[in-house]
Parts: sequence; C-alpha cells; structure tokens
Amino acid sequence: MQPLGAQDDMISQRPVFVTEPHLPPLQEFIPYLEKLWASKRLTNGGPFHEQLEKELAAYLGVQHLSLFSNGTIALVTALQALRISGEVITTPYTFVATAHSLIWNNIKPVFVDVDPGTCNLDPARIEEAITPATTAILPVHCYGLPCDVDRIQRIADTYGLKVIYDAAHAFGVKQDGASILNHGDLSVLSFHATKVFNTFEGGAIICPDAKIKQRIDYLKNFGFADEVTVVAPGINGKMNEVSAAMGLLQLQHVDQALDTRAAIHRRYQDAFADVPSLRLLQAPAGLEWNHAYCPLFVGPDHPVSRDALYALLKKHGIHARRYFYPLVSSFPMYRGLPSAAPEHLPHAQALADQVICLPIYPTLRAEDQERLIGIILQTAR
Ligand SMILES: *Cc1c(COP(=O)(O)O)cnc(C)c1O
Repeated sequence: MQPLGAQDDMISQRPVFVTEPHLPPLQEFIPYLEKLWASKRLTNGGPFHEQLEKELAAYLGVQHLSLFSNGTIALVTALQALRISGEVITTPYTFVATAHSLIWNNIKPVFVDVDPGTCNLDPARIEEAITPATTAILPVHCYGLPCDVDRIQRIADTYGLKVIYDAAHAFGVKQDGASILNHGDLSVLSFHATKVFNTFEGGAIICPDAKIKQRIDYLKNFGFADEVTVVAPGINGKMNEVSAAMGLLQLQHVDQALDTRAAIHRRYQDAFADVPSLRLLQAPAGLEWNHAYCPLFVGPDHPVSRDALYALLKKHGIHARRYFYPLVSSFPMYRGLPSAAPEHLPHAQALADQVICLPIYPTLRAEDQERLIGIILQTAR
C-alpha cells in the first residue's frame, strides 16, 4: 500500500501505522448479524441501540448516554441542546472537529493556550478571554488526560457559562475511581475506528439527567418528539444497529484492550526514561488512563529534529503521526481570528512543533515496537 515512488526509500519490512482498529473475532459478531437479519430492525433506536446505551452507561459509570452516528454530529448536537451561541472558549491543540462543531452552529471560537504539562486548556488563561458574548467553554481531555475540571467549573460558575467536554479521547478514563465524563454540563465521546473503543463509526453524549437526554434524543432524530410532533430543527445523528451490535461485542473485549495498551505504554516509558530530550506524558496520581495515544515530545535539545525523526521512522515503514500539527487555529477558516495569532498560543505552538504520536494499539507486535524504539534511541546518541 505504498504510494508511488516511496518504494525506493523503504528500508524495512512490514509497515507499522500509528494505530490499527480493534476488531473482536469475526465469528463472535455473526450471531448479532443473524439477529439483525431476523428482526429487520436496522436503525431508529433498535434493540441493540437500547441495550448499548444501558451497558455503556453502566460500564463508564455515568447517568445517561445518547448514542450517535459519530462524534462530530454529537458535538454539533450537544451545542444545540444547550442553545450555545455567541463565543465559545476552546483549545487550538485538538482535532479539527472540536472547532468545526462551533462553526456549524454559527459560533465564534475563541482559542486559549494550553498547559504544556497536560496539553489541555490552561485555566489560568480562560478568564482573560471571556467577553459579554461568551456562553460556554469547550475543553478537550487531550490524549485522555483530564482537564483541570474543578478550576474550569469554578470559572464557569462565576461567569454563568456552560461547559461541554470534547471527551473523544477519554473513553473509560477515571480519576480516583470516578469517571471524568461526569464533569461539566455534557461530555462527548467518539467511537471512530481509530479510537480506543470503536463501533466502526459512532459517538455519544453523556448527560447528567433524563430531561436533557430526552431533548438530545429528539435532536438526533430530526426533532421528532412523536409521530406527528417536531420540536426542533434536528439532525439525523442516530447510531445504526450494526454499529450498536459492534459496540456490545467490543464492550466484552475492551478491558483486555486497555490492559495491553498500558503495557505498550510502559515499554515506551522505560525505553525513553534516560533521554531527557524526549518527553512522554505523565499520568497524574490516581488516574486510570486509557493510553489512547502515546505522544512523544522531541525537545529542541534533541540531536535530531521532530520532522527529521518523523521522516526517519517513515523511511523504516513506521508511520507515526504528528497529532496535533498543524494547530487548528492555523487553518484558513480560523487563522484570521484575533485569538488564533501564534504569539497568543506559544505553548500549543511548541507542542505542535515537538509532537510525534507513536504506534499504540493492542495488536502492535513486540518486535515492531522494539524496532521503532531502537530507531528513535539511535537519534539520541
Ligand atoms: C476523533 C475526534 C473527534 C471526532 O469524532 P468522529 O467520531 O471522528 O466524528 C472530535 N474531537 C476529537 C478531539 C477527536 O479526536
């Protein structure tokens, strides 16, 4: 699957990608499909959908959850559900969908710099970005490490703002035994193929109470409250039954997948522990992390630049990715905003210039991990 011309540069064997979708054994999925064929219930809140909403809420330790066709539509709908408008404070160090969800609601994103230690929105910089038009904060639990949820909530309470967490990376993450998905007004998950828990494509909104879940359920079904009543200009955001069935099966395998990710991450940690110019993220005490990503930050004092290291890995068939580079705020639809000025976002810019996400997924082979660790360590000498 090499692009034309890349063959000459290939030194090595099997290509290794930054991630690989987690798939349970196919034979375990067949019984679900047989049920589906028999019932002919393909979507619109079918039995798998209803069961997955209950099982996921229980597994994650949250009150209510509404399934979606993907995380982006869930983000767009979460903003609609709370009638967010005007300006929303968010992070530039994320996947583009975070900010795009604001534009789709005709909301102006206001970018605030991140804390370089966690890569998350820096609470100390939020207040200065608040204006009379600010209605909400949209932080991201980047790489699954929790935001400073207490400080963010205090600011939101002081200024009367809503908080919606983009928790696309934060499936299953717990702090001191409690889910981090219970903070703020709503949290949004993604079950895209590349995420820790996938339903091919999919997503969810975590809701604190049944009333807001009701409204979200209307919104994801065109605004239908019943057969003849449409209460809002809703969207089609429903999860189909094949995806919901996949979710039910994935739930049986996800703990094992999380354990394997943790072991792979530990190996990276050990390998780079003695190289001060290479930094991995540290999970705070009491965190049950999901190891969704393994970002490696290549310091300016490292003998080889981030981009040279990226190219070197590629030459060896290892396709690491620079998440999140370039910064969202640098894309054409955002760069004209005053808050998108690079001098306003120095920490986010530095992270984007230093980051390289290493392959981490349950089926990553030990010999491939050792091979890529060896390549990286050679650049440290
Ligand atoms: C993956 C992702 C999304 C989008 O989710 P989809 O399910 O792919 O639509 C949104 N925000 C972040 C931070 C993501 O990583």
